[in-house]
Amino acid sequence: MPRDTPDARDAAPSGTAAVPAENTTPTGESRLALVRRARKTYRKLSELYPDAHAELNFTTPLELLVATILSAQCTDKRVNQVTPALFARYPDAEAYASARREDLEEMIRSTGFFRAKANSLLGLGQALCERHGGEVPGNLADLVKLPGVGRKTANVLLGNAFGVPGITVDTHFGRLVRRFGWTDEQDPVKVEHAVGELFPPKDWTMLSHRVVWHGRRVCHARRPACGACGVAQWCPSFGEGPTDPATAGKLLRMRSFA
Ligand code: SF4
Repeated sequence: MPRDTPDARDAAPSGTAAVPAENTTPTGESRLALVRRARKTYRKLSELYPDAHAELNFTTPLELLVATILSAQCTDKRVNQVTPALFARYPDAEAYASARREDLEEMIRSTGFFRAKANSLLGLGQALCERHGGEVPGNLADLVKLPGVGRKTANVLLGNAFGVPGITVDTHFGRLVRRFGWTDEQDPVKVEHAVGELFPPKDWTMLSHRVVWHGRRVCHARRPACGACGVAQWCPSFGEGPTDPATAGKLLRMRSFA
């Protein structure tokens, strides 16, 4: 498969005024070449997945927050089966704050770790009522202080319910950006910052969705479908999975995960 060979003599992409070409990167290419390659990869991902979006169903920030808490160690599909009844029964923060633990646990049992998740939802309802007038706050500092809400969940909220650009580093995102050679960091916060430096903030939220969609459909953890991958020409990990198109094609999972 032919490789793209970014030319450092080309002009810097808009928004990357001070990109020192001599800085080295995980792949040994110049910093400028990395930015150009990363943006070409992202442009292709945008063509492949124009409609990428959060695969959890929600209509309000609170619903997205609850769904995201339930999605820990659980598929989005399973969460989407549970949430319609849950959202109908607990329409606001006050309802979660005053919920009977047994009722809540029963409704979310199938998502796994239901006791811990019920704890989070009860605590979440109480914290929102006590500290935020029952509303979900739209900033990182307040979100990460809520029970059951870490930086990843907070970024999901900011990007998808409040329109604040954010990079969400989940297991798919971390795996893919390391395979892409965009960073070699393992720590999610460091990955977030390293990838954020390659793209303008306006792209961060959709970048997160599109990279995750590619991870779920093509670039699987165990056997990535390299021979059927639309961004293979910019990927230094091409060959980590089968490169034969017919073999790789059988590994694709081009269905909805919602
Ligand atoms: S070429 Fe292979 S490792 Fe690289 S993104 Fe595509 S499927 Fe993943």
